Amino acid sequence: LKEVVTPDMIDNLALEHFPPCMESIHLNLRKNHHIKYGGRLHYGLFLKGIGLSLEDAVKFFRDEFIQKLAPEKFDKEYRYGIRYNYGKEGKKVDFSPYGCEKIINSTPGVGDAHGCPFKHFDWTNLKKFLVRKGVGDEVLQNIESLVEEKNYSKACGIYFTVRHPSHQISDEGITHPNTFYAESRKALQ
Ligand code: SF4
Repeated sequence: LKEVVTPDMIDNLALEHFPPCMESIHLNLRKNHHIKYGGRLHYGLFLKGIGLSLEDAVKFFRDEFIQKLAPEKFDKEYRYGIRYNYGKEGKKVDFSPYGCEKIINSTPGVGDAHGCPFKHFDWTNLKKFLVRKGVGDEVLQNIESLVEEKNYSKACGIYFTVRHPSHQISDEGITHPNTFYAESRKALQ
């Protein structure tokens, strides 16, 4: 049975179990009370994938966005996109969360929150992020080499291993943010 995730759980889950791409969008959203379209799409679908209901997704984004804009503006401009992710608007497709390949090949512009930190952050910012999460010098060097080789999935896999040393994951590394999350949940159960 799929777990139900509610908005009040998200801060802790982000800290403990989200992959860097999704934790980074989450932090951005909390800081700026807003994220642009790509972030809403990538993050909205990821949250749907981990068990946030449509109703709670609207509540989660609305509570954050209305700290900076009028509730009516949120209802007019942003509610639709969240409902769209859940297949309730437009083409009514029940979209799946994006895998790493799609995220790595996306092209975030200035001010965008989405993307794969291993690919899209410059090394200074990536290093800052990883150090904050407890990654030590030796592993940082290892990750830096993998990033230079453009082996982002493997770099993310190494990061996962640092976070969960006793939990085995596939040799190819991480290929889907929702797999990272699911494995992380399993590891810390
Ligand atoms: Fe996210 Fe995948 Fe990049 Fe890891 S490799 S940060 S899961 S996009």
